[in-house]
Amino acid sequence: MPVRGWIEVNQIYCKGCELCIAECPQQVLSLDMDHLTPKGYHPVHLVKDGCTGCAICAIVCPEAALTVFRETPLRATPLRTAAGA
Ligand code: SF4
Ligand code: SF4
Repeated sequence: MPVRGWIEVNQIYCKGCELCIAECPQQVLSLDMDHLTPKGYHPVHLVKDGCTGCAICAIVCPEAALTVFRETPLRATPLRTAAGA
């Protein structure tokens, strides 16, 4: 199962510079042309599935406007030990 990630965009800090869009290896980011930030910029947003949570977007963002989340699969745990019981 592919790793799933997602982002949150701080609307106060994002200035729509598109650096994160250019660097996203999955090409899942775009500017949200339907919204403006309080400062009057179109903020970035996720436009499709495929984010892996790699955090490259957050690293390149000059405004530290992005928080990246990554889903971690639950680790399988044995119901009983090899010793029995
Ligand atoms: S999140 Fe950061 S890198 Fe992306 S458009 Fe906004 S300011 Fe630029
Ligand atoms: S975490 Fe990685 S895949 Fe997800 S939007 Fe950011 S750069 Fe793209």
